[in-house]
Amino acid sequence: MEQDDLPKLAEACREFVDLRWPAGGGGGAAMLFGDGTTLCGTSPDVLNASVEMCHEVEPFAAAFRLQQPVLASICLHKESAGRFLVFSPCGVCRERLAIHGPQVQVAVASPDDVTVPV
Ligand SMILES: [Zn+2]
Repeated sequence: MEQDDLPKLAEACREFVDLRWPAGGGGGAAMLFGDGTTLCGTSPDVLNASVEMCHEVEPFAAAFRLQQPVLASICLHKESAGRFLVFSPCGVCRERLAIHGPQVQVAVASPDDVTVPV
């Protein structure tokens, strides 16, 4: 992965979330695959919070289906006011990405600004 790929991945994720939730808040994840494909995904709403899935699951499953390594991943949450927050992957997603990479570059929030992926 090139250093310039992370801003492009973040922009793809923002565009996806804005398309899916043009008004109000929502979230999604974007992953860059080994063949250069960027795939975005999200998780469905559920009644029981104990069965929620992470936004990373959809692009992670597609990478497995397409037999592509994951080079980079980002997860963003859009607040209802329109500000995007960078979410670090949870422990389970970190394990999945480590196995399906390896050496996956994962965006985390800047310590100075939670809206800036680093
Ligand atoms: Zn997760």
